[in-house]
Amino acid sequence: MTDRYAVFGNPIAHSRSPEIHHAFAVQTAQQLLYEKQAVPVDGFADALMRFREEGGRGLNVTLPFKEVAYAACTELSRRAQRAGAVNTIYFRTDDKLFGHSIFGDNTDGIGLVSDLETNLGISLRGQRLLLLGASGAARGALQPLLDQSPSALTVVNRTASKAEQLVADFASYPENKAVALHGCGYAELPATPFDIIINATSASVHGEVPPITAAQLAEQACCYDMYYSEQGTAFLTWAAEQGVQRCHDGLGMLVEQAAAAFELWRGVKPQTKAVIEQLRAKA
Ligand code: NDP
Repeated sequence: MTDRYAVFGNPIAHSRSPEIHHAFAVQTAQQLLYEKQAVPVDGFADALMRFREEGGRGLNVTLPFKEVAYAACTELSRRAQRAGAVNTIYFRTDDKLFGHSIFGDNTDGIGLVSDLETNLGISLRGQRLLLLGASGAARGALQPLLDQSPSALTVVNRTASKAEQLVADFASYPENKAVALHGCGYAELPATPFDIIINATSASVHGEVPPITAAQLAEQACCYDMYYSEQGTAFLTWAAEQGVQRCHDGLGMLVEQAAAAFELWRGVKPQTKAVIEQLRAKA
């Protein structure tokens, strides 16, 4: 029987994950089926078990299920534990220690870092980072960003307490002590420049821009929006209007997080460059 995979979300019609995984399968000569499933908002656990009983091998998980997926897994990667959210599930059948476990991982953060560092050639080392948002995507990105040794990382969020809590959760890791880590609301954000500003809010989904100002942009700043849209994003439009030259959307991140999931499932790492180009060409 051909191995089956799926992405669960609600809504899911817009998802480009099937396109990406089919391209990976062709490239690496793997036989698999990958579908998208619209799961009822209160029906994730049932859908998960049904898919597993039907022989499903693994899942991607998107909005709004990353936290319930985390709770449903019986084994978690370290980065999923730190993120408190799961975007990739692998139904293990052969693990000596865990047996038939439901293994949860979070590949969003490493997808972001791979896109920035490898695809876009933007080194994070020694840079002053500003992360907008303190929800699932920001939480998943935090440890992989800190692992790149920026000089400082500020998390700013509309609800300030969430940014403060996120920073407090990660400040306890000994390897993060070298990075100046701060969390605050927009009103408390200092008017000092940042080298790299990453939008991990859902503001762009609604055509809105988080309330930062030009004073927070360094001269050669880079602005990255995790969101992507064929029409561009409100945040990147704003950044370009401020004269920012390096503006990038989250399509590369989407392909990179998918590549990490594919490698977990299939044991082979696909090339991503051609797939990103293919998606851009179709957009
Ligand atoms: P959520 O809906 O959970 O994000 C909500 C966050 O956005 C909160 O921090 C919220 O602040 C903030 N926010 C919402 N609207 C505004 C606004 N108008 N101004 C300022 N802040 C705002 O989504 P996720 O965390 O799951 O995802 C965030 C983004 O990342 C989405 O656009 C998603 O598409 C993208 N993403 C992209 C991926 C990729 O592979 N490219 C992977 C994962 C996510 P508050 O807490 O105050 O409400």
